[in-house]
Amino acid sequence: MPLAVHLTALGCRLNEAERDAWAVALHRGGAQLVDRPAVADIVVLNTCAVTAKAARTSRKRARALRREAPGATLVVTGCAATLDPDGVPEADTVIPNADKDTLAQQILAAHPAEDPIGLLLTRHRRTRRFVKVQDGCRNRCTFCIVTVARGAERSRPLVEVVDEVRRAVEGGALEVVLTGVHLGGFGEEHGTDLATLVDALLSETELPRLRIGSLEPWKLTDALTEAIRHPRLCPHLHLPLQSGSRAVLKRMARRGTPSDFLRRLEQLRTVRSDLLVTTDIIAGFPGETDQDHAATCALLGAAGLSGLHVFPFSAREGTAAARMPGQLPHAIVRQRAADLRALDAHLRGAALQAAVGTSRPVLWERHGGLTDTFLPVLPTNAPPNSLEVVELVGVRDGALVARA
Ligand code: SF4
Repeated sequence: MPLAVHLTALGCRLNEAERDAWAVALHRGGAQLVDRPAVADIVVLNTCAVTAKAARTSRKRARALRREAPGATLVVTGCAATLDPDGVPEADTVIPNADKDTLAQQILAAHPAEDPIGLLLTRHRRTRRFVKVQDGCRNRCTFCIVTVARGAERSRPLVEVVDEVRRAVEGGALEVVLTGVHLGGFGEEHGTDLATLVDALLSETELPRLRIGSLEPWKLTDALTEAIRHPRLCPHLHLPLQSGSRAVLKRMARRGTPSDFLRRLEQLRTVRSDLLVTTDIIAGFPGETDQDHAATCALLGAAGLSGLHVFPFSAREGTAAARMPGQLPHAIVRQRAADLRALDAHLRGAALQAAVGTSRPVLWERHGGLTDTFLPVLPTNAPPNSLEVVELVGVRDGALVARA
């Protein structure tokens, strides 16, 4: 019987991209992926620690997997396991982030396959593939534990990424999302950059749709802004701003100012008027005043964004922000997060309404579609894993309605 492996990823797209890469490597090595931990020989959990809540969820998931698969080998990796390896006593093996890129090879080396060719069941077809292109981060944003958990920046060779995307297209992928911890730093240690990678993927592969994952605003170079013109590059960017207050950004050790952010949005919109932008915002950062919060809400309300990811500040042990004076009471943090979530709902609603009457390329998956501008579309009878231009005729349940 082939080795049965169950893979679970919590947290960010990078964790999902790593899970996808392990899945492909395990397939090639003759293993079989299984959806249910209970039938697995090996269970792998890729954990998250971006917030204290995420770290608790990761530990809780490890306990649940141990209960579901008492006989399996439980392998735990990711940021929570890296920062606190003793925090997952259920694990048989803890693989720190520094060694996780070879996780599949480590499993296969420990369990050589009986008949690799016969078992190449391409069951792992994903319409949208997350592709990890870099790891680690040189920045030291004061609230961020990821830069601690993921270590120094390192990029995959450009040719290797192009090759992986080419194989993903052969395997049926219609969209690839480029992911990294500090995506904008891609390739700099090799004398290249993200814009060059984007150009290579669009010119050297048949990929119908390329999407850039979360990108720090200060890494939006002129070359990248120019690249956004390309019809096969999705006109949506996620640019984490974190605060609309210059003083708060300074205490976060973020590069750039709120007006820099607005200027970049303006430049982008001159290049591609249908581009949509979303962002991350931290609510209740230490020392944040009512005026700072008001400035953040005002900027976000006026910037024409299509959505916000709101994070109530969570003091992560090991970060500079956790030691800062001016920690705000939970009630204030919660209230400011609620304000921002209400604003998010308004912005998402406005973006959906603005799309009514337009036609957009939609990627259909099992549970509905996604426009190139990253707006959800309610399911139709279009087959999953297909891409078509549809007319958007209405909004219902927080998603767009396509003309059937
Ligand atoms: S740039 Fe992103 S990953 Fe790097 S330290 Fe800042 S928030 Fe963390």
